Amino acid sequence: MAAHDLRNQSANLPRSTLLALVAVVLTATAWAVGWLPPMERATGDMLLRTSKTVDAGKQPVIAILIDDGAVERYGPLPWPRDRLAELVGSVAASRARGIALDLILSESADPEADRTLQEVLDGVSKALAAAFDRDGAWLLPSSGLGGSSHAAHAYGEVGPDGVVRTISATKQGHGLSLPALSLAAARLLQPDLAIEAGVELRPEFRPAPQKILSFGAADVLDGSYDPTQVEGRVVFIGISATGAGDQFVVPTGPRHQPVPGVLAHASATVSILRGRLLRRPGWGWSLTAAFVLSFGIQWIRDRRGAFDIVAFSAIAFGTMLLAVIAVRFGLLLIPATSLLMAVVVSALLRETAESWAARKESGLLLNAVLEHVGAASSPVPNTAAGRLDALRRVQERVLDEDTARKALLDGMDEGVVLWDRDGTTILANPAAKRLWGSAPAFADIAGSTETVDPIVVTHGTRDLAVAITDLGHGHLAILRDITAERALERRRQEMQRLVSHELKTPLSSIAGFGENLERYELSADEQRRVASLIRGEAQRLQEMVTVFLDLEQLGGGHWDGAIEAVDLGRQVTARLEVLGAAAGARQIAMKPSIGEDCRVRAVPALLDRVVDNLVGNAVKYTHSGDTIEVEVDRSADQVHLVVRDHGPGIPEDGLAHIFDRFFRIPGTEETGAGLGLALVKEVVNWHGGCITIESEIGNGSAFTVSLPAIEEV
Ligand code: ADP
Repeated sequence: MAAHDLRNQSANLPRSTLLALVAVVLTATAWAVGWLPPMERATGDMLLRTSKTVDAGKQPVIAILIDDGAVERYGPLPWPRDRLAELVGSVAASRARGIALDLILSESADPEADRTLQEVLDGVSKALAAAFDRDGAWLLPSSGLGGSSHAAHAYGEVGPDGVVRTISATKQGHGLSLPALSLAAARLLQPDLAIEAGVELRPEFRPAPQKILSFGAADVLDGSYDPTQVEGRVVFIGISATGAGDQFVVPTGPRHQPVPGVLAHASATVSILRGRLLRRPGWGWSLTAAFVLSFGIQWIRDRRGAFDIVAFSAIAFGTMLLAVIAVRFGLLLIPATSLLMAVVVSALLRETAESWAARKESGLLLNAVLEHVGAASSPVPNTAAGRLDALRRVQERVLDEDTARKALLDGMDEGVVLWDRDGTTILANPAAKRLWGSAPAFADIAGSTETVDPIVVTHGTRDLAVAITDLGHGHLAILRDITAERALERRRQEMQRLVSHELKTPLSSIAGFGENLERYELSADEQRRVASLIRGEAQRLQEMVTVFLDLEQLGGGHWDGAIEAVDLGRQVTARLEVLGAAAGARQIAMKPSIGEDCRVRAVPALLDRVVDNLVGNAVKYTHSGDTIEVEVDRSADQVHLVVRDHGPGIPEDGLAHIFDRFFRIPGTEETGAGLGLALVKEVVNWHGGCITIESEIGNGSAFTVSLPAIEEV
């Protein structure tokens, strides 16, 4: 099945980069076709409105408004020039830094009144409003009031939504270029402020126009205002009376409500003086930021997944922080909406692509799994509910199968072990743990062998047949206990050997002697000799069969004789008296050394077999005239029997097999079947004791039997 790993695919870098690029291109297109600017304007305005304003006390400007109260008290607009002169005069007397007059003071019909105003204005730094007439020519202040030299335009550029966000640094009309009133007013405080022709200024309009320090013209004319507030400030004078004067909607003004133009100019002047002019970052910057942010989103998404709260928070707060930083440093709006757009677009693209691929893959996978468990429902359901249903069916099947498999494994006599590619145990059934003592490690069991044919591993007292299969992604081993099988096989071989070899020879001798008796006329003496040979061979046969049967019985763990407390010292002394005759015949001296209270729990007849065999061998394999030492003594909890001779000794490679049945040192001339020591060992083991040998070629051998002693009373 061509299932590919979605996780791996989504984790690779090119995919993230590609998605980020696509998101940025789509965002740029949205900009180009004009979808984003409205969003951007709204976001930017919101950020400006929520950011911190400037305290009234620190504002470098103040506004005097010819408001409804002033009109009510001093008559309708336009006011005569001598009243304006009075107003300006009292401002100038309060030591204002300058005056920005947002009133058009073109030629009037009353030269006398003009002169009064002219005199007052001559004494202050000033900027005077100018506007276009119907023909597009400037309506400048009358030449006596300053003419074009102090004139400044009082326009703001109205955006598509009716909001003024930009002010042209200069405006051209009939050959004369005039600076903006707010800029000219700012130059009254900072004369070196540059005026760049044709530049669009984007003041923050903070403080908001409605927060500009102001009072009514009537208060000034009444003399009821605080002149210290005017001192050192640039004073804007303009109209706010209902239905008169310019009205601007600015981003920081009351929502969608116009404010008097004079306040908007004053607000712009503060922004200009504070250097808070918003700039639109270049396309390069915007695209880079959009790409980095969008790529970052994909990157986090690759690592933490789609539903991760940390990733989500990082994206949300990161974007917001970026927007705030952008506005704080005077960058206009672009980051806020276009970057958000890039993020959202890239995230959407990502989710769509993945869910589409996941849907397709999960369909294929589901189909394969359903087929595998034999619950295929074709075609694969298209709805999520249908797929869930199918999955539930799969789960039921799998759980059922798992229960059956577990029961099977638990009930098996054979051990089953499964390792993964690294040799870590994935499964070990109870039989495996029982046979091995714990869950077997791969290295312990297999070593370097990897074969399906069983290998035999001896573990503790058990022989195990182990078959290992390489599954590609791991190994499977089947362990079978063959201890009993192997013991049976050994006994079969021993029995075969006894019959085919050990019994055959004496039997053929007996047959031969019998034939002699039958065929030949023998003298009475000869007949007796042959009969004695026959009896000797038959006796040997009998002994051999007896020993073999005893061995079999002991090997099977049973013995008919009763166990009793026996003093091994006394038992050995009694046997030595009998065995002494055979030793004496070969001039071999016995040197017994028998300790006190050497009691053991044993079957006396079996102990006799041990003594007879050990002492018998010593006599048999010792040169005539030598000495045999036989010691019995007791340590704390053991009774020891040592039989030491000074015969030929046993070669080292023979020591390992000396207790095996039918084993004889090659070249041994004395008769024997190689069963005596096997019987000794079996008897000693049966009594819970042990036997050791020390031997040196040419210097003899010492056999030590240790049996558990009976507690002294
Ligand atoms: P058997 O004496 O009937 O051959 P055993 O089982 O008693 O059988 O002894 C096995 C072999 O061990 C003997 O054939 C002999 O080669 C060697 N052996 C046993 N005891 C001694 C001994 N005391 N000194 C040297 N070799 C011995």
